[in-house]
Amino acid sequence: MPVPLPGYAEAAALVAKCAALLCEAKPCSEQIALGSSLGRVLAQPIRADRDMPSFPRSTRDGFACRAAEASSHAPLAVAGSIRAGDPPAGPLPPGAAWEIMTGAAVPAGANAVVMLEHVEHVDGKVGLAAGRTVEPGENIVPAAAEAHAGDELIPAGTCLGPSQIASAAACGYANLAVFARPRVAILTTGDELVSVDAAPAPGQIRDSNASMLAAFVAQAGGEPWILPRVRDDAKQIESALRHTLSSDLLLISGGVSAGKFDLVEPALARLGTHFHFTGVRIQPGKPLVFCEIPRDHAPIQPTFGLPGNPISSAATFLLFAAPILATLAGSNQNHPRFGQATVARDVKGRPDLTRFVPAFTSFLDGRTLVTPVGSQGSGDLAAFARADCFLMVPEGLERLPAGSPASILRI
Ligand code: AMP
Ligand code: MG
Repeated sequence: MPVPLPGYAEAAALVAKCAALLCEAKPCSEQIALGSSLGRVLAQPIRADRDMPSFPRSTRDGFACRAAEASSHAPLAVAGSIRAGDPPAGPLPPGAAWEIMTGAAVPAGANAVVMLEHVEHVDGKVGLAAGRTVEPGENIVPAAAEAHAGDELIPAGTCLGPSQIASAAACGYANLAVFARPRVAILTTGDELVSVDAAPAPGQIRDSNASMLAAFVAQAGGEPWILPRVRDDAKQIESALRHTLSSDLLLISGGVSAGKFDLVEPALARLGTHFHFTGVRIQPGKPLVFCEIPRDHAPIQPTFGLPGNPISSAATFLLFAAPILATLAGSNQNHPRFGQATVARDVKGRPDLTRFVPAFTSFLDGRTLVTPVGSQGSGDLAAFARADCFLMVPEGLERLPAGSPASILRI
């Protein structure tokens, strides 16, 4: 009796379980310049090198004062002026205010900053304008309010984006330790495939998956290693597979369906491969294979046999391979990149499969809308070029009606 295929959630959980085992061995780390760190995974925590801020900082252009004195609306003498970058001034004399710029250190003795727009100038003095109030602490970030020296701001395992790079820069990390990128072997199979720079003869097509998967791998923090393409030939496939065994992750494209020339699974089996699953109840991507190839002198090699249809390859990479890759990269953000959007028009579901429909997002009246690109199927790369996400239609739903919330998987 055939083994029932796992559903999406079950297959994802299986992959996550394997990922958890893989992440026990942390990758090697290397030192790089902060300027080259976008998308890399931190191998060290980022800590505050001093209190943040290191001095009480004014958040407004205005006048530093004692809130109690200013609240009387009596004119205050201007004791001085302090600009951002000046050393801390003060102390503030009684009955006075100190002109101050955004980012400057608040003079000792002052406990509030009245913004410029809220003061009145009278005979060279300043007073709180009628109808305005000021509270102690207003427009001041106290020293160490954001972090104390030595506090961990970003844990190791975080993938560096612009906001983390800003924090690291603020703490003086001109260089930092990141994990080495996992090497991901990409092996495309198919008699019909020719190179991108070749003119396909009738019946042939260009190998677009090698380029697409390399881009996905790079985007997910891996180093793509494109192997020479192989034909649908059992011997060629097997010898190519043996050649890939020095990679951290192997992606095979094509040859995993039920056709007469789908020879990848038997070739994997001949290497003693342990199969976690050989299909998932999803569309596209149902024939997806997830397995582990044993190696003599190294841990097992996680391997995916991705269905060759480009859109199937894309969906299955994002759903299952990207999380494993993120784990191998040392990242603690190793889940698929799902988001939420409102469905722009009715989308059909399937009783037996979770659908991932190529779609594009738009932004209207403060909402993210998602619209299917209207493709001719899993090989329609003309339509796929317009997609920026997959719209998920859970298994068993007859349809997702227009206006309903839905999960989207970002491409
Ligand atoms: P397969 O998974 O090998 O049965 O292939 C399914 C479909 O995807 C067929 O129409 C193939 O021609 C197409 N295909 C397979 N590999 C690639 C590739 N590397 N690039 C573009 N299309 C492919
Ligand atoms: Mg094929």
